This record gives sequence, C-alpha cells and structure tokens, in this order.
Amino acid sequence: MIQLYIPLNFLGVIYREIKQSLTDLDKMFVLMEKEREVRDAPDAKPLNLHLLPRAGEGRGEGTSPDATVRFEDVSFAYEPSRPILKHVSFEIPAGKTVAVVGPSGSGKSTLARLMYRFYDVGVGSPGAGGGRITIGGQDIRSVTQASVRQAIGIVPQDTVLFNDTVEYNIAYGRPGSTHEEVVAAAKAARIHDFIAATPKGYATPVGERGLKLSGGEKQRVAIARTLLKDPPILIFDEATSALDSANERAIQAELQSAARNKTTLVIAHRLSTVVDAHEILVLEGGVIVERGTHAGLLAQDGRYARMWSMQQVEAAPVL
Ligand code: ATP
Repeated sequence: MIQLYIPLNFLGVIYREIKQSLTDLDKMFVLMEKEREVRDAPDAKPLNLHLLPRAGEGRGEGTSPDATVRFEDVSFAYEPSRPILKHVSFEIPAGKTVAVVGPSGSGKSTLARLMYRFYDVGVGSPGAGGGRITIGGQDIRSVTQASVRQAIGIVPQDTVLFNDTVEYNIAYGRPGSTHEEVVAAAKAARIHDFIAATPKGYATPVGERGLKLSGGEKQRVAIARTLLKDPPILIFDEATSALDSANERAIQAELQSAARNKTTLVIAHRLSTVVDAHEILVLEGGVIVERGTHAGLLAQDGRYARMWSMQQVEAAPVL
C-alpha cells in the first residue's frame, strides 16, 4: 500500500531517469519481436556454467566453462499451421564452432533466436513444438533468461545501433567498461581508426541523427561490443547484404579470432566461412538433411558439395 503514496514529484524524477532506458528497451523489444512472451519459470535460477578441465592441459591447469550447447529433437513453429524446425538435434561442444548453411527461409536464424531465448520451445502456443535446448546440461527454459543472455554474445545480420555515442554503443556489451577497454575492443574489431578519424571520436553520435555507418562498420561495432562482453558462447549471423569482398574477408578474420575457444554457432551465407567448423549442418525446410565436416560433406557429393561448387564458380574472377 505504501507505494501508492509515493509523491508525484519523485515519480517525475525517476520518470526522466528511466525514460532514456525505456526508449532503448523499446527498441530492443521491437528487435526481439515477441520478446514479452518469454517468461522465466517462477523457480528459475541463473545458468550455472561449471568449470571443466580443458582438454590437453596439464593436471589442475586450464579450465573453461562447460558451455556445451545441445539442441535435442527441437521442433518449432511461429504459427501452429506452419512448422519451421522439425526434430533438429545437434551439439556444439564447449569451445567448438558449428556452422549452419541452407537456403533462405530454411530456419537458420530461428535456431539462433531459440538459443538466445527470443522464443521458448513448446511454451505459449500449441504450435510451439517440442524438444529442448540445453547449455552446460541445463534446459534454458528452466534458468533465467537474463543469465542465458549474459552467457551469449550475438553479432546479428543487421546490427541496430542506439541513437547514442559510439562509446555507448560499444560499452553496451559490458556496462561499466572503462574508456580504455572500449578502445581496446574497437581496436580488436578494427573499427578504432575509423572512429578516431571522426571529429568527436568516441563521443560521435551514431544513428538517424548522427554518423551513418555502413553495414560492415555496424557489424564491427557489434563485434567490438561482443569482444567487450567476452561471453563463453557466440552466435554469428553472417550478413547477407553485399559487403565488398575485402571488407567481408576482414570481418570473417575478426569473427574467427573472436570465436577462438568459444562455443560458437555460425549462420553462414558464404561457405568459405564454414570450412574449419567442427561440424556443418545443412538445413532445408527446417530439417537437417546433411551434416559433417567440410571434407566429409564434399566426399558425400550431395547438396553441400553442389553448393560449394556453385559458390566456387560465382567467386571465380570474371575474365
Ligand atoms: P535467411 O537465410 O533468409 O536469413 P533463414 O534460414 O535464417 O533465412 P528464418 O529467418 O529462420 O530463415 O525463417 C524461417 C521461416 O520462418 C521463414 O519462412 C520466415 O518467413 C518464418 N518466420 C521468421 N520469423 C517469423 C515470425 N516472427 N513470425 C512468423 N514467421 C516467421
């Protein structure tokens, strides 16, 4: 009852304080579409990433979080009448990279959305499917959404930046970061020189009323943000938009170094990105139709091998 009597002028002060955060949150909700439908279980606890000895290290030395991700017989539909994922099972062992390739609309980004809990499998609507996704052996629906997101860094296809400074946009990866940490992340993502060359540097506003960044520059800001966050799990949704090929190769190199020793899901549109993956999944119509390493899939001489030879032809220099 006492809350009802909080003076209105005090509410005015907090209103102004939180207005900016709400604007940002609203943008996040738009991004996350059905975000508000994902609810934590009443008894949800934070995700617990137990430390495991790292393979190949000396006794008692070198541990890494058990950030193994498993999709176990996952089926999912946004609308009950239209199944999108059908009985999808795979594992990303801790520290390894699994890549997903396949035609547009086959459900690749949906895997990423489920892993980040934009949607929950089997919760909310009768068509939401079944199966489960675990991280470190824990069903992600049974732990808090915030702790799942804390453990995962996403570099999405189209990064939406906040109408704020470059500094804010990078530091968002880890609130409370120092300026030096922000600069170090920007350097690692190779966006520092570009920022430093602008008249206001890191204080330059970006977005509609500020500096307009290209698709590649925005992705670099997202990479810097993710490097700063330094999560054990990464999701890269490779941009479909045409970056020039030098830019594209550079971004791939930065992504690869960011993914070192992290549990990584790569949604790839260019097969050159996936060659070194621990496992490649070929998704078609929501079903894994082929899986294996690059060499194994080429030897199978199936869909992946055909996609590979088509991309080689496309990538060949035009004489
Ligand atoms: P692309 O390579 O073009 O990015 P994708 O393989 O990542 O495609 P998804 O984005 O996972 O495909 O979409 C799979 C299917 O789900 C598509 O047919 C898409 O239209 C549908 N879909 C995606 N989001 C929603 C949504 N919020 N509501 C309803 N259907 C959706």
